[in-house]
Amino acid sequence: MAIAQSVLDIAKQEGYRHGLRRISMIRLQVGALAAVVPDSLKFCFEMLSRDTIAAGAVLQIESVPVVARCSACRELFEVENHVFLCPQCDEPALELVSGRELSLTSIEGETGDSNDADENPSGAQHSAGQ
Ligand SMILES: [Zn+2]
Repeated sequence: MAIAQSVLDIAKQEGYRHGLRRISMIRLQVGALAAVVPDSLKFCFEMLSRDTIAAGAVLQIESVPVVARCSACRELFEVENHVFLCPQCDEPALELVSGRELSLTSIEGETGDSNDADENPSGAQHSAGQ
């Protein structure tokens, strides 16, 4: 739930920054060690985003492999089945290069009026009543 909330927060921030009226798709990179279950993330996100600009957005979750660096020979290798042993020299790798991240790579959505966006010299006075 906390993860879905932070995904939503970031997506909303990005959405406002790009002037989106509605967010239709969110792409995420999730490390294999991030302990994210895509289905439950989608479910929680759907509930949390209900009354926001991200309501109905599709979550596209790309999983990132776990990569470690050997402490002895600096070899980079992909960790499978939680075996953190270097395939080159058999030393345990203590440095995790990737696999724990949860990052938002891009969002897609609709801006206000897509037909003549930015071409509106008679502009609205949207910051009138401060
Ligand atoms: Zn090594």
